Amino acid sequence: MTQSTDTTSRRSADTITAITAARIKEVVSAVPTGLFIGGKWLEADGSVPVEDPSNGEILAEVADATPAQGMLALDAAVAAQKDWAKTDPRARAEILRKAFELLVQRTEEFALLMTLEMGKPLAEARGEVAYGAEFFRWFSEEAVRISGRYSIAPTGGTRLLTMKQPVGPVYAITPWNFPLAMGTRKLGPALAAGCAVVLKPAAQTPLTSLALAQLLTEAGVPAGVVNVITTSHSGEVSEPIIRDPRLRKLTFTGSTPVGQRLIEQSAQQVLKVSMELGGNAPFVVFADADLDRAVDGAMLAKMRNIGEACTAANRFIVHESVAAEFSQRLAERMGDLVIGRGIDQGVQVGPLVDAAAISKVQELVADALDRGAKVLTGARTVGDKGYFYAPTVLSDVPHTADMFSQEIFGPVAPITTFDTDDEGIALANDTEFGLVAYAFTENLTRALGVAERLETGMVGINQGIISNPAAPFGGVKASGLGREGGAEGIEEYLETKYVGIAL
Ligand code: NAP
Repeated sequence: MTQSTDTTSRRSADTITAITAARIKEVVSAVPTGLFIGGKWLEADGSVPVEDPSNGEILAEVADATPAQGMLALDAAVAAQKDWAKTDPRARAEILRKAFELLVQRTEEFALLMTLEMGKPLAEARGEVAYGAEFFRWFSEEAVRISGRYSIAPTGGTRLLTMKQPVGPVYAITPWNFPLAMGTRKLGPALAAGCAVVLKPAAQTPLTSLALAQLLTEAGVPAGVVNVITTSHSGEVSEPIIRDPRLRKLTFTGSTPVGQRLIEQSAQQVLKVSMELGGNAPFVVFADADLDRAVDGAMLAKMRNIGEACTAANRFIVHESVAAEFSQRLAERMGDLVIGRGIDQGVQVGPLVDAAAISKVQELVADALDRGAKVLTGARTVGDKGYFYAPTVLSDVPHTADMFSQEIFGPVAPITTFDTDDEGIALANDTEFGLVAYAFTENLTRALGVAERLETGMVGINQGIISNPAAPFGGVKASGLGREGGAEGIEEYLETKYVGIAL
C-alpha cells in the first residue's frame, strides 16, 4: 500500500496566526548568534543556518565553531571552575533561583523560539518552558543540601567521614527535540554542584540555548561558568574536548549510536559520564484498564512533542479483549487533531523536524504495511511545504515490523495484542532499550507486579507523561546511564571523598 500526500486536510483555514512576522523578527533578532565563551560573544568564520521546519525558511545564522574554538570554551570553563566551586552554596542557589524567575517571566519569548526552530505547537513550547525552568528552581533548592556523613567504623576506632565535591568542568551535549529542557536538566544540577559547563546544543535548535546563555548572565552566572558553542561539525569539535584531561564529566542526551561513540571516547581518561539515550517505550493496556484513562494517556504518551520524544510510546501492546475498542477510540482522537504551523492558534500537531525525519517515518510505516498492518487513520504526509505527517494509528502490526525495534520519532501509533500478562510483559521487554514503559490497569497488585518486571528506568502507571523535575529521569540497557532530576540528579556532578580519621 502506498502512502499519499493530502494537501487538503491541513486545517490552516480553521487556524489564526497569532504571531506576526514583526514579532518573529523581534524575538529572533534579539538572540545573540556568536559563541558564548568566557562571558563574551565571539565571532566565527563560518555560520550554520537555522531552519523553520514548518516552511523551510531560514530563521537565522549562528556561529560555526571550529575545534580550536571548542577548546577555547573548555579553557574558559577550566579557568572558572575553582572560583565557582568555592562560591557559597547559597549564592549558587540564588543565581539558579533568579534564572528560574527570569525564564518564567520570558515564557513567551522562549516558547516562540522553540516553536520556530523545532516546530512544536506554542502551547507545548510554553509547557516546556515551565518544565525546563523547574530544573533551575529544583536544583536551587538542592544546592544548599549537599552533604556527607560521619560514622564509626564497625571495628571501632577509626571515624569514617565522607564529603561531596564538584566533579569539575562538564561538557554537555543536547538534542533538538526539547531545546530548552534538555539544557536546563544538565545546567541546573551542574551549577548547583559547583561545576563550570561547556554546552553544545544541537545544530538544528541553537537559538534557545544562546538566549539561555544571555539569561544566565543576567541571573548572575559569572563569566566562564557557562559557555555555549554552536557548530555544524559536532564530532570534530567534541572529540578534543572529551579527550582533554582537564574535562571531568560528559553529559549527553541524544541517540544511542552517538552515545556509544562518546562512551568509547570517554574511556581513554575514564571520564564520569551520564547518557540519556534512545527509547522504545511499550504502552501496555491490560484487560481491566479504564479505557478513558488509557486513551487519554495514549494521546499524551504518543503525541507529546509530535511523537519526537525519547519517552514517546513506540509500541502499543493491548489485551485482545479491549484491543478493538481501544484502537477505534485512539484512531478517532488521533484523526481529530489539528495539524499546522506551531505558531497558529489551535494547532495540536506541528511539523517533524526535517526531511530525514519524514522519510524515516514513511519507511517505517511502509514496512509495517508490507508486513500486513492495517491503517486506522493517517499514514500520509500533509501539505506541500514543511515536514508534516498525519497522526497515524496502525492495527495488526506484526512483532517483526521495523517500527517495533526502532524509535519511530513521529506521530505513529502501532498496535499489537496479547493474551496473558506474561505474554504482554515479555513483549514489552523485547527490546534493547529500557527508558520508560506505560501500563494501564485498575488492579494495584497487578500494577506493582508489572512495574517490578518491566526492564526500564521509569514506569508510568495509568499516566502517559511522567517526566518531573523532582523525579529521577533515566534509562537502563541501551537507553543510558545515570539519572537527571530528583535528588539523584545532582549526584551525577559530585564526587564522594572518604576521609578516614584515627581516634
Ligand atoms: P543525535 O543525533 O544523537 O544528536 C544529539 C546531539 O549530539 C546533538 O547535539 C548532535 O549535534 C550531537 N552529536 C551528533 N554526533 C556527534 C558526535 N559524533 N560527537 C559529539 N556530538 C555529536 O540525536 P538527535 O537526533 O538530536 O536526538 C534524538 C535522539 O535523542 C533520540 O534517539 C532520542 O530518543 C534521544 N533523546 C533522549 C532523551 C533521554 O533523556 N533519554 C531525551 C531526548 C532525546 P548535531 O546537531 O550537530 O548533530
